[in-house]
Amino acid sequence: MSETILIWYRNDLRLHDHEPIYRALQQRAQVVPLYCFDPRAFGRTPHGFAKTGAHRARFLLQSVAALKDALEQLGSGLVVRLGEPEAVIPALVKELNISAVYYHQEVTSEERAVESALEIALKPLNVALRAFWGTTLFHLEDLPFDVAQLPELFTDFRKRVEESPTVREALPAPGQLSKLPEVDPGALPTLATWGLEEPATDPRQVIEFTGGEPAGLARLDHYFWQANLLKNYKQTRNGMLGGDYSSKFSPWLAHGCLSPRRIYEQVRLYESQRLKNDSTYWLIFELLWRDFFRLVALKHGNRLFRASGLRGLVIDWQDDPERFERWRTGQTGFPLVDANLRELAATGYMSNRGRQNVASFLTKNLGIDWRQGAEWFESQLIDYDVTSNWGNWNYTAGVGNDARGFRFFNILKQARDYDPEGDYVKHWLPELAHVPAPKIHEPWKLLPVEQQRFGVRLGVDYPLPMVDLFQSAAANEALYNAAGERRAGRRRRAGR
Ligand SMILES: Cc1cc2nc3c(=O)[nH]c(=O)nc-3n(C[C@H](O)[C@H](O)[C@H](O)COP(=O)(O)OP(=O)(O)OC[C@H]3O[C@@H](n4cnc5c(N)ncnc54)[C@H](O)[C@@H]3O)c2cc1C
Repeated sequence: MSETILIWYRNDLRLHDHEPIYRALQQRAQVVPLYCFDPRAFGRTPHGFAKTGAHRARFLLQSVAALKDALEQLGSGLVVRLGEPEAVIPALVKELNISAVYYHQEVTSEERAVESALEIALKPLNVALRAFWGTTLFHLEDLPFDVAQLPELFTDFRKRVEESPTVREALPAPGQLSKLPEVDPGALPTLATWGLEEPATDPRQVIEFTGGEPAGLARLDHYFWQANLLKNYKQTRNGMLGGDYSSKFSPWLAHGCLSPRRIYEQVRLYESQRLKNDSTYWLIFELLWRDFFRLVALKHGNRLFRASGLRGLVIDWQDDPERFERWRTGQTGFPLVDANLRELAATGYMSNRGRQNVASFLTKNLGIDWRQGAEWFESQLIDYDVTSNWGNWNYTAGVGNDARGFRFFNILKQARDYDPEGDYVKHWLPELAHVPAPKIHEPWKLLPVEQQRFGVRLGVDYPLPMVDLFQSAAANEALYNAAGERRAGRRRRAGR
């Protein structure tokens, strides 16, 4: 064995389709896999939420534990450390005489700052630091354009990549590994390490998300092959209630327990062995959104995180802690919004339909700075992915680079279209359990006698609506349009 290569695991907690480990083994190197729990990831967001809330922290711990098991089964192991990678890795490099560090690169500022700090710290040690691109379906080098020329609109991006779809083959997982060198493997932390409590299992949760590559692969097998759900994905994907309306791959994708190329290959296999239809196409289509947001972040950098967003739209957002708190805790008086936010807090997951609605309500009805919502999602979501989260929030808040005027979700219409019987709302709002379907989405219209009959007192058991849906949207539209005019003026003056 010629050299020892450290594999720095990050959001890529798997063995299959893992280029850093694959390349190191190709070089016949001894590998030392490391996972480093960086305390900065467990700090606070600017608005004071836990940066990694208990739901995601648990999923992460499970994913790292599963990786450790898998590596041990192959004869190796996982070195676990608590600390900043730029301090931990150089120390290990010295201790174990490591000649190179391989890792998957990230695209956003906090993660890249760690990469830069590591590069600086490793320089005097004369070790090679090699970054691999491995999170997206399309490899950066295979795109038909340079990232600086990434189309601003998703549709243009999709058409370009669909013209000549080149998805690299998923790399095989290693078959066997050599023993770790003599080193303290370190112990896995617990939630208490970061002052977090074990989240209670809510009996209303419709799916139990367990972190780790085996659970991710099992979900893939269930969704495509066992339950044969892929065939109707396009029709069911906008659902909100139940385990199977959508793939639920996102937590495993976000932690890298599942590789998108593996999913892609399974879709192609399904198409050749079972059927090919608009649903099989649509799953890939959604994975393209994921790619797009990552590339957008690479192209636009920190604009993704600014209040004015990718579009540079300076809107008069409100800072209203009391109203934000009602939104966050699911007490807005709009059942669809409240049910979704309570599901998020109870489980760490929310459907795509739900996310679009609650984000629209926060920004287009309450007029509250979208970054507060994005931070709350960051804290709570088990599938939190920095570029998908902040990218989607940009779009829903109307500050994304494809914003086409003020577009808001009519929560009532959405509720009637996607929850016609009120099953979803009743699932998460027990206080409305006896309200009949035709009245469930507008409880404020219940007469006193109806409130008595259905066992709900408005303003006591369930809140009255905090805004008028259409008046509030109109007021926020005016602010939005004013921001648009100011932007146009700025651009005119700058001659653009
Ligand atoms: C405000 C807001 C915030 C979001 N934050 C995140 C986030 O932090 N992490 C995250 O993975 N997704 C995020 N999404 C996108 C989407 O809601 C989730 O990916 C999806 O709900 C996950 O469930 P699923 O795996 O069953 O999705 P499916 O419908 O089964 O889709 C399959 C996969 O495609 C990808 N995908 C689907 N829709 C999108 C999308 N709009 N943007 C990017 N990728 C997509 C995901 O990787 C998903 O797992 C957000 C959407 C909104 C509107």
